[in-house]
Amino acid sequence: MILVTGGAGYIGSHFVYDMIERGNEVLVVDNLDRGHLEAVHPDAKFEECDILDFESLKNVLQNYNIESIVHFAAFAYVGESVEDPKMYYTNNVVGSLNLLKAAVFKKISKFVFSSTCSVYGNPITVPISEAESTKPINPYAQSKLMIENMLRDFNTAYGLKYVALRYFNAAGADVMGRIGESHDPEPHLIPIVLQATLGKREKVYVFGNDYDTKDGTCIRDYIHIQDLADAHARALEYLESNDSDIFNLGTGDGNSVLELINAAEKITGEKINIEITGRRAGDPAVLVADNKKAKDVLGWVPKHNLNSIIESAYKWHADPKF
Ligand code: UDP
Repeated sequence: MILVTGGAGYIGSHFVYDMIERGNEVLVVDNLDRGHLEAVHPDAKFEECDILDFESLKNVLQNYNIESIVHFAAFAYVGESVEDPKMYYTNNVVGSLNLLKAAVFKKISKFVFSSTCSVYGNPITVPISEAESTKPINPYAQSKLMIENMLRDFNTAYGLKYVALRYFNAAGADVMGRIGESHDPEPHLIPIVLQATLGKREKVYVFGNDYDTKDGTCIRDYIHIQDLADAHARALEYLESNDSDIFNLGTGDGNSVLELINAAEKITGEKINIEITGRRAGDPAVLVADNKKAKDVLGWVPKHNLNSIIESAYKWHADPKF
């Protein structure tokens, strides 16, 4: 059985759907602080448990036959992490330490970790490969890098094998519209743009058009959530017979904020009102993945593009189930 922490959250819930559809048994552990019970696949086992509570976590692990762990549970808002770093270091780092201790205690030796391209900070070389140095510029990214470092040391000392997956911009939704992205407040561009097309927002604020990019707006590498799910499945398989490693997960293509808004207008047939405002603190101009390593080593090939990302997200936002 696979233990999935944060399996009621955005990325975790899509991974759980994928794994169950591939015939796996899954146990979701989530404290439902930011996750949604409705997002948990009906065939998954579910335990409401906070990974900060080490005794409860150990009890849960005693009651199931867990072979591997996929760890999504974390806070993931950059701005919030700057305002309240103690909350981020506690929830993300201490919570993960508990989980790693519990894994060692239960002799679980396969661990897939949900990391982020923000560990690279402002990269020197774009597209960004795994060889880029890590220089986090906010507590959220720092907390994720600290967890990667704990994993490295637990691997050396206790033989806990891991794969850390550094995602670029996770986006889109289940193509069947069963689950999707539901954050409150919503900081991410694609949901905000689609809410504007659906009359749920008056306009979209574009955070800066004076970057050194083709149209002056920031460029990001949007990667479909089901492509991410597939990479996690491959990472688990990889750990069966390989040592620990780190992979970037992105499409290798970048889109600017204005390109994304234009694509959403075309797909939805709605005009989007925009207002150009100042830059958002901490936004690098361009974040695009060099995904060669994940392709070569994991055999991972992203199937979606910006249009199918927007189409699936639109399906969800037009009829959100939670
Ligand atoms: N963005 C924007 N307006 C918004 C939200 C985001 O212009 O209301 C921009 C943001 O500055 C960044 C890009 O859209 O360049 C993607 O932002 P998001 O928060 O979705 O992801 P991030 O890249 O911060 O992880």
